[in-house]
Amino acid sequence: MDLHKIRLTRYILISMVVGAVTGLTLSQFVEFVVDPKTGELLLDSKNHPVLTHSFVADWVINGFFEFLSEAFIRSLKALVVPLVFVSLVCGTAAMDDVRKLGTVGLKTLALYLGTTAIAITIAIVFSLLIRPGEGVATIALNDFEPGETKSLLNVFIDIFPVNIGSAFIEGNMLQIITAALAFGVALVVSGKHGERVLSFFKDMNEVIMKLVILVMLMAPFGVFAKIAQVFATEGFETIFALGKYFALVVVVLLIHAFVVYPTMLKVFTGVSPFVFFKKLRNVQMFAFSTASSNATIPITLRATEERLGVSNKIGSFTVPLGATINMDGTAIMQGVATVFIAQMSGIDLSITQYLTVILAATMASVGTAGVPSAGLVMLTMVLGLVGLPPDKIGLIIGIDRLLDMVRTAVNVTGDAAITCIVAKSEEQLDEEVFNRPVEEDLAN
Ligand code: ASP
Repeated sequence: MDLHKIRLTRYILISMVVGAVTGLTLSQFVEFVVDPKTGELLLDSKNHPVLTHSFVADWVINGFFEFLSEAFIRSLKALVVPLVFVSLVCGTAAMDDVRKLGTVGLKTLALYLGTTAIAITIAIVFSLLIRPGEGVATIALNDFEPGETKSLLNVFIDIFPVNIGSAFIEGNMLQIITAALAFGVALVVSGKHGERVLSFFKDMNEVIMKLVILVMLMAPFGVFAKIAQVFATEGFETIFALGKYFALVVVVLLIHAFVVYPTMLKVFTGVSPFVFFKKLRNVQMFAFSTASSNATIPITLRATEERLGVSNKIGSFTVPLGATINMDGTAIMQGVATVFIAQMSGIDLSITQYLTVILAATMASVGTAGVPSAGLVMLTMVLGLVGLPPDKIGLIIGIDRLLDMVRTAVNVTGDAAITCIVAKSEEQLDEEVFNRPVEEDLAN
């Protein structure tokens, strides 16, 4: 069976629409559990609203749909660690000159951090102009336990694994990247021994890529179920109540995705942003459905290499790195949320404090994994740094799920755009593949 021939993108798009309609219909049959004392919605450990028991809630939304979506997302996540390690070892070993690693690394890092700083700056400027936090003082607060955040020093120390096994088991992406780079370099300098091991890794890479395609066959079902769950349980009334905040985050996300990235692509690579978006559609859909840049890594890797023409040497490094440290969409939410919470609390932040927010959010994105809701945990640290009350995050948790989906799609778009830019600068972007009609691509 030729797995490449199956045109999944169309099916996934259809399943998203059908999922949304199904979810909205089912939302008529569910009720939320509220705290009898405060009248607030109760949230579970994943920040999802708790539903009262009923057939639809227990058997359909938290039963059948939960099974379908979890089976798909877990399988995708299970591939991330082996895929990143094997692919990056091959990529590193294929570098003609391992000293190039340094320049590629620095360039990638500078672009990832630079775009994040741009993203949050745009978010703050827009929020100061639009003032989303004015006149929204009357909303019930959900309790929010500020999570643990790491110090900046520990973020950097943590790049180095103390135990490779635990790095793999915990899925610590930065440590796995460090280990893969070191292993790849060691293979190159090990002569014949290295060559033998490398040929095994190359075969393994092919096999894991086939596994990715197999897991993607589950996508239409998994995506349908996940979207239906979200739409059935999203409290749309709360979205209306916080409408200005919600809309502003989405608008800035769209500006970043459709103005900043295309401009950078055009200026630095000369390739067509239209083609780029067309070929990235399925990656964005996966990111939107899973709300996890990390779980999307296998799809982003395939798309950058097989559709956008980025060589494995560059993509195997920049894609997993981006999914871990590059979160422009998240930074945008944090910028808007900080100004929103400051305005609601009647606190005027100084220019220095805004600069602190920009710096802190940019650096914080380095140590945070691309998993659902990660941005909220980082936001507590950012708020704490400028003296804003972190428990005010309770206000925006209720509507964060949909925003998380949209910003994750922006996060992965950023990873792919920077990957193309770095690849072009290293002459590792095959423009013939980039420009070939999408129907002829393998990763469809
Ligand atoms: N869900 C986002 C991601 O995986 C992170 C976040 O903003 O919460 O990229």
